[in-house]
Amino acid sequence: MLRLEGVSRHFGGVYAVRDVDLTVGQRELRGIIGPNGAGKSTLFNLIAGHLRPDQGTIALRGRRLGRLPAHSRAALGIAIVFQAARVFRGMSVRENVMVGAHAGTRAGFWTAALRLPGHFREERLIRARADAALARVGLSGWADRPAESLPLGQQRSMQLARALCAEPELLLLDEPASGLRAAEREALADLIAELRRAGLTIMLVEHDVAMVTRLADRITVLDLGRVIADGAPEEIRSDPRVIAAYLGE
Ligand code: ADP
Ligand code: MG
Repeated sequence: MLRLEGVSRHFGGVYAVRDVDLTVGQRELRGIIGPNGAGKSTLFNLIAGHLRPDQGTIALRGRRLGRLPAHSRAALGIAIVFQAARVFRGMSVRENVMVGAHAGTRAGFWTAALRLPGHFREERLIRARADAALARVGLSGWADRPAESLPLGQQRSMQLARALCAEPELLLLDEPASGLRAAEREALADLIAELRRAGLTIMLVEHDVAMVTRLADRITVLDLGRVIADGAPEEIRSDPRVIAAYLGE
């Protein structure tokens, strides 16, 4: 599904991501862990096209993404749920989710976000997709409420529904469980497992190592922008480099 070769990106004198090689198989659930500042969010932004690598190549299903902008990558099936919640205020939950369906078109995204008068013959179709996505994350009853009125847990679910509304093949989840209570984490973990069973390829950055260990097929560990370990969850947990860099902190 995804192959990174020699991908690097620096900010000033700091390498956020350094010489990363990574291959993610179709329908795999890949956990990505590492301490704060390890480069996890930067890695996702490089994959989704919100940042350009200084070096290296990223290929989706064998196709090099090169300089393709984020909306073109969305159209190819990459969806990202950002670490920080992005809520369009003054819009309903459903409208917030519908924005996701327009992520694959440059004009469409802003047309939807700004609610410019309907250019969409497909508006009803997208509305149906949004409602299906909301049902999938358990937010059906919230569709008509103002998005900013949602509690944090539901805002996270809304972000996920927005990503699903784009009908992605590769879903990038950046710390989706942070700030959630135990019961909400459990529900989220179940949902992620279900999405994976439904055929999505998922990359999951998560601080909750127990959750990643339970869900992931493989785990990649980043530290200071580099991959320091990559393997099955049980190998990762017992890897001394990982314990030193991360788990022992
Ligand atoms: P993580 O998500 O693993 O916590 P990040 O990818 O956010 O790590 O950050 C990796 C490193 O890159 C950090 O040192 C961070 O300060 C730096 N960094 C990330 N984004 C930017 C940016 N836009 N400008 C400058 N430095 C950045
Ligand atoms: Mg991050």
